[in-house]
Amino acid sequence: MLTRDAARRRGGPAFAGILGWPLDHTLSPTIHNAAFRKLGLDWVYLAFPVPPELIGSAVVGLRSLGAMGANVTMPHKESVIDFLDDLSGDARSVGAVNTIQRLGDELIGHNTDIDGFGEFLVGDAGIDPTDRRALVLGAGGAARAVIKALGDLRASEVIIAARDEDRARPLADLAPGSRVDVRPWAGAATIASEADIVVNATPVGMDGLDPLADVSFRPGQVVVDLIYEPPSTPLVERARAAGADAWGGLGMLVRQAAASLRIWTGQDPPVETMSAAAVRAIGTHS
Ligand code: NAP
Repeated sequence: MLTRDAARRRGGPAFAGILGWPLDHTLSPTIHNAAFRKLGLDWVYLAFPVPPELIGSAVVGLRSLGAMGANVTMPHKESVIDFLDDLSGDARSVGAVNTIQRLGDELIGHNTDIDGFGEFLVGDAGIDPTDRRALVLGAGGAARAVIKALGDLRASEVIIAARDEDRARPLADLAPGSRVDVRPWAGAATIASEADIVVNATPVGMDGLDPLADVSFRPGQVVVDLIYEPPSTPLVERARAAGADAWGGLGMLVRQAAASLRIWTGQDPPVETMSAAAVRAIGTHS
């Protein structure tokens, strides 16, 4: 009863927010507050910079202050699990939480990066990965969500290229219906030349570098860089110039946010409004 009472006692707008560290340039408040306004909800979304050692007490705070829910970003997506009451199937399968839902006094962890990537790829970019061969760079939280989504969407083959192959190996279990192979980071360029779909799930590119600088892309290939700030990376620019179908990470960001909002409110998210808010915000601070 604690949280419901807290919410009632407080009155005023309901609130949700994002827990991360650092949180200098998060777009989530802009995206969600635009959605709340569009839906006519008296809700507010706040950024909560929480250092790693305080994540447990931040979750206690969400309970006691009566938050409607929260997003979770780096570096808390795994460590937050210890402080939640239950996990959705998706969060359990990838071992990472990016969305917390409050159901009465229970806090449930979800992972909307999986649906976010799938909805972006199929719904927005119009790409069907069924029977196609994909290369995923990286073995972190985002890579896990992408591999699970590609497996769920029946990609024939998912090759993971990671600098830490031991970290990558267990990820094969996320796509049991696809052929999954782990290859050394140094071999990524050769595989990328032959892959149908290439996804960069590392931060390499935020700083102007290109993780696949030696690859000549071609028309018919699909390249997705999950980095959204900057909105377009050297990898995306080069792939596009070569005639490939190339995308930055903003579409996935908006889709995972939309899926979180659906969980919290039960309403259809205003995706176009959320997307326009994100594009406008990127334009103002990039
Ligand atoms: P993470 O859990 O820290 O994983 C990062 C991965 O990148 C790890 O496999 C790491 O390898 C690898 N890596 C880092 N630096 C590297 C380098 N210099 N060379 C080769 N590999 C390197 O991070 P994450 O949450 O997966 O996020 C990865 C990227 O995706 C970030 O840019 C993030 O902003 C983006 N992202 C976007 C969305 C979206 O909605 N668009 C959602 C989630 C994440 P080690 O294990 O060896 O360190």
